[in-house]
Amino acid sequence: MLTKNQVYEATITDYTTEGQGIAHIEGCAVFIPNAVAGERCRIRVELVRKTWAAGKIVEILEKSPHRVNRECPVAKLCGGCDFWHMDYEEETRLKAERVRACLNRIGGEQLESVPILAAPTCRGYRNKAQYPVAAKKNRAYAGFFRAGTHDVVENDRCLILPEETDRVKSVVMDYVNQNHVSVYDETSHTGLLRHIYVRRGAVSGQILVCLVINGRSIPKAHALVAQLKKIPGFTTLVLSIHTKKGNAVLGDAFVTLHGPGYIEDTLCGLNFRLSPRSFYQVNHHQAQRLYEAAISQAQITKADTVLDLYCGVGTITLAMAAAAGKVIGVEVIPQAVEDARDNARRNGIENAEFFCGDAGQAALELERKGIRADVVIVDPPRKGLNADTIEALSRFAPRRIVYVSCDPATLARDVAALKARGYVLQNAMAADLFPRCSHVETVVLLSRK
Ligand code: SAH
Repeated sequence: MLTKNQVYEATITDYTTEGQGIAHIEGCAVFIPNAVAGERCRIRVELVRKTWAAGKIVEILEKSPHRVNRECPVAKLCGGCDFWHMDYEEETRLKAERVRACLNRIGGEQLESVPILAAPTCRGYRNKAQYPVAAKKNRAYAGFFRAGTHDVVENDRCLILPEETDRVKSVVMDYVNQNHVSVYDETSHTGLLRHIYVRRGAVSGQILVCLVINGRSIPKAHALVAQLKKIPGFTTLVLSIHTKKGNAVLGDAFVTLHGPGYIEDTLCGLNFRLSPRSFYQVNHHQAQRLYEAAISQAQITKADTVLDLYCGVGTITLAMAAAAGKVIGVEVIPQAVEDARDNARRNGIENAEFFCGDAGQAALELERKGIRADVVIVDPPRKGLNADTIEALSRFAPRRIVYVSCDPATLARDVAALKARGYVLQNAMAADLFPRCSHVETVVLLSRK
């Protein structure tokens, strides 16, 4: 049993899914933030549980050649990024290794390695930011939550965001402070402004500003719009009405105060409308490469009906439409489905159809109606596929399933379930859409035996 507050010497051997280092001390796995694999450290154990412990580095005895000085001044405090203390080579190595380990351990594969599509830049890539706001001594400020807390860490310039996005935050906070707009306090459930949500089209440069408020309106909106108009690309200002308690960032109702209420962007050669509630990958360049890889693995022909489950605003669905006979998208968020239908129209695509509903239930219903699916693309949220979706896939029995995943563990679980229903894993590739952060995307191809 490890002793709390005692210092041990150990080597970091691996990483957790959140990117913390792991050392094994006296047979116990100890999780250590800001560690790099291969480093020999003196570690103070700060928390001891039955099967694991947590500690902090007191001294690095042998430094990894992959350790670097953090370029971001708040990296250690801010819960946004995980990897500013290591070089990008080590980051992509550990991400590819995590995907490989999941597919082998949970998915029953025996892969020797998994390739990873590394990003060309770690800076300025994120097209979306959600800044929580807080106030201290009569001054309101915005930033990001400290890891594992709701304390807001102020940050003038976030290195993974474009400059315009941070400028929006500054303009909004100046307006808040000048007009004494109150800031939301989650303990007392009082105060108006909860989050500043900004989305910027990487190609179009169009900017959507969405203020999430615990109320119905904001004071002096025209003055705010006048200031926002000074930022190149500012297109629309929307309020998200969010008067309920809880951690959800966005509320259910949206009120447009200026502009069309959405922005447009270009992806895979197509024009997309993006409402605030709709999902859109945050790394444009890498998303495009991921989708290209997914579509090429699908090997679609003009004779095929292709089903795209969890389709969002129809990005992958519409990018496949030209190659397919017919494409069908299914998505649960009504605004995203409206966007998807509009996106088909604005690109003159006539062989696409979209349904709003749960992917599994909608797919089962389509199958009962006699619709066939030659190829199915799935791109679910982190929890992966539900039992209905697996059942629908097994009834459709498509020639190929292309699975785009943001969580290698649930992907591997679903791969195992699909293998039990007659599929084989043909190909797996990781893609880094979140440089400096611990998330990793994967695309795999499964084909019917
Ligand atoms: N393929 C799209 C969206 C992927 S994100 C793209 O790359 O842009 C996952 C999407 O699944 C989100 O749009 C989310 O709203 C949707 N979603 C979540 N749960 C769902 C469910 N049960 N059924 C259908 N769609 C769902």
